[in-house]
Amino acid sequence: MNDSSRERELEDKIRRLQAEIGQLRERVQWPATGDTVRVPEAYASFFNLAEETVGKYFSQTTIDPTKATIEISGQRYVLLRASSLSVDFLATIKNLYADHGEEEAFAIGRSFLFDIAHVIGMEDAKNFHKQMGVVDPIAKLSAGPVHFAYSGWAFVDISPESSPTPDENCFLKYDHPFSFEADAWIKAGIRSDKPVCIMNAGYSSGWCEESFGVPLTAVEISCKAAGDDTCTFIMASPRKIKQHLARYVPKSSQSKSIAYQIPSFFERKRVEEEMKSARRKAEDSDRMKSEFLANMSHEIRTPMNAIIGMTELVLDTALTDVQRDYLTTSLESAESLVDIIDEILDFSKIEAGKLELDIHPFSLPECVGDTMKSLALRAKSKGLALAWNVEKDVPNMVRGDRGRLRQILVNLVGNAIKFTDHGEIEANVKVQEMGPDGATLYITIRDTGIGIPQSKLHSIFDAFTQVDMATTRRYGGTGLGLTISSELVRLMNGKIWVDSQPGQGSTFHFTARMETEPAKAGVHADLAELLALTVTDRPTNRKILEEMLSTLGMRVGAAESAQAAVHALLKQQATGHPMQLLVTDIADAVPLVESIRGNRELVDPIIIVLTSAQKRQQIQRLVGLGVEACLTKPVKQSDLTTSILRAKQVFDARPVTSPVIASEPETLEEPEPTQPPTTDMPVRILLVEDGVANQKFAVAMLSRWGHSVTIANNGREAINALNDAPDQFDLVLMDILMPEMDGLQATEKIRAQERDSGRHIPIVAITAQAMKGDREKCLKVGMDDYLAKPLRRRELQKTIQRLVSKKA
Ligand code: ADP
Repeated sequence: MNDSSRERELEDKIRRLQAEIGQLRERVQWPATGDTVRVPEAYASFFNLAEETVGKYFSQTTIDPTKATIEISGQRYVLLRASSLSVDFLATIKNLYADHGEEEAFAIGRSFLFDIAHVIGMEDAKNFHKQMGVVDPIAKLSAGPVHFAYSGWAFVDISPESSPTPDENCFLKYDHPFSFEADAWIKAGIRSDKPVCIMNAGYSSGWCEESFGVPLTAVEISCKAAGDDTCTFIMASPRKIKQHLARYVPKSSQSKSIAYQIPSFFERKRVEEEMKSARRKAEDSDRMKSEFLANMSHEIRTPMNAIIGMTELVLDTALTDVQRDYLTTSLESAESLVDIIDEILDFSKIEAGKLELDIHPFSLPECVGDTMKSLALRAKSKGLALAWNVEKDVPNMVRGDRGRLRQILVNLVGNAIKFTDHGEIEANVKVQEMGPDGATLYITIRDTGIGIPQSKLHSIFDAFTQVDMATTRRYGGTGLGLTISSELVRLMNGKIWVDSQPGQGSTFHFTARMETEPAKAGVHADLAELLALTVTDRPTNRKILEEMLSTLGMRVGAAESAQAAVHALLKQQATGHPMQLLVTDIADAVPLVESIRGNRELVDPIIIVLTSAQKRQQIQRLVGLGVEACLTKPVKQSDLTTSILRAKQVFDARPVTSPVIASEPETLEEPEPTQPPTTDMPVRILLVEDGVANQKFAVAMLSRWGHSVTIANNGREAINALNDAPDQFDLVLMDILMPEMDGLQATEKIRAQERDSGRHIPIVAITAQAMKGDREKCLKVGMDDYLAKPLRRRELQKTIQRLVSKKA
């Protein structure tokens, strides 16, 4: 075919299409006006007007299949086959929801149709009123039935009983001859046992609702598809429709079928409201639960404070071994009770989705070191070796929740100790992945304990789960520790898992993501390139020591015995670069030190001995032999670094040698002093506390330290005491919950008065309120610090000294 014949063919086609369009246009013939709705005489004038407006609107209809458009006044419309929104639609829904049963499937379909039609009705009305500039509510409503007829829904015949007022009392009763829905069923030859004009009801109530600005719903009370003579509807406010329904629908039929149920558009809204209020109630009850828990925790902590405090006080006095043993047991039990309360509290926070992290910068190696030390006594008392290692590339400063990381470690290492009878526990911290703003830490805790059967490896992370009852009885525990730990790990964007061989031991692994803080550079410049020798008979310890020393930039060699050490020192010395530092942890270091210090050929290195604090005599002996520092095992990186730096200073300043005993890290291994610790800074304290037992304990403890204590039983007494003798006190210890005036109010008042006087007395909260936010509340009203009960002596002592010396 050539080009010109193709052109001719196309032109023909266009002409044919244009002719078709013309025919189609002609076919859309709208009746003049006046016959599209039947209304009572009283409303005739409104509806006549509506006939005009709607007729005018639809007279602008154009159909252009070449552009797939049906347009009225620039608005695009779509033609839908009536049956597909009625009988066919409901048949499909019935199939889809066959498992719900026919009634429910019908109800689902009906809700869908009603809702969509209601919205279409509202939107059509909005559009029509805007396009045609209709503003009067009655005129707006009147356009509805006419528009209804033009758009093919149904003819409306309004009954004289109707009272179309634009308010709550609006009531309409009308029939629909020619309802598209009833028609679809009749045409399909299917008789329904329920009214089927659902979209009609939805659309008209939507239109009227939009016109009057009040919620309306419509119910079909008889239907041609169900065999009735007409399709009849009533429309009213959803609150009043039931009343009207009762008037028209015989009781028997109301109870027999769901046919006359009120469409669920509003019903669902109501259900939503109910759900909302149920949720509110649940939230309230959650809040009440947390408040209850906070109270319980307070109630339990308060007496625990007295029990732990008093026991510690008695332990400070001269006691027989048996008495000390009994009291230590009692103290340990009390402390484990506090731990259990904390676990339950944490668990309830997890349940309520309220467990949150408290993010601050902290030193990771310090946190790990401190935590391990606090567990060392427990391990030692079972004859277990506890070693840990923070690898070189682990960032020093990170941003995270120090307390919660510690809690995970305490739980995992605590479990390892609990479930291990022989051998060792080793913790390792390394970096799994390092990004520009954070690191993923990978931490493992390995034990040589009883292990966990394969089948239980997953369930132990569930709440209240323990491997078996016999184990529980033997080892104790709540079964909450791992649940809490896994939640904490999750909050730290990490994972926790375990592998284990029954009878051989378990390794718990977890990862945690933390932002890194820029490290303080250059701290160990003095120690870089130092030649060091480790002398230790345990490979694990050697590895850890090597790691710690090389972290500081040293070059590290190793020996396993005194003899090997002397040999290594001599060998190194022969190169012209003698060893400068020797660190050992062998059980009896005296012969080693003797053989070094006694060897005239050897250039003396700095010697640091890691030892157990119990062996005080040995320490004396070592110091006598010229050891530069003795550190209590286990030792953390920062303590070792400080000691080496100090020892090096002293060493470099020789020949005036003066061996130092490096400040021994505080550990539980240190025996409690039998003499009460006294302070060189007596402080005048105002103790504001209502509990008699706690008053007694605090007075006993504080006066032992040389402080003087005045008691106020509540906030009001405290204010009076401060006003009476403003210069008599250096510090206030303030309970929070007290009768008459609580600690927060009292502090606010004190701070307000101080604004005039220009004074500032340090106030420390001592409270059993240990929920998140309590600390912030205390600081917000102007307190200087916060200590949770049960009070720990060291913490209290440190806080008092810090605040008073700051003041001075
Ligand atoms: P708890 O220790 O208080 O019972 P956890 O949630 O911490 O609760 O631990 C749950 C259970 O997992 C323990 O009771 C124990 O059966 C098992 N388990 C945990 N850690 C270890 C371990 N290191 N070795 C053997 N079993 C362990």
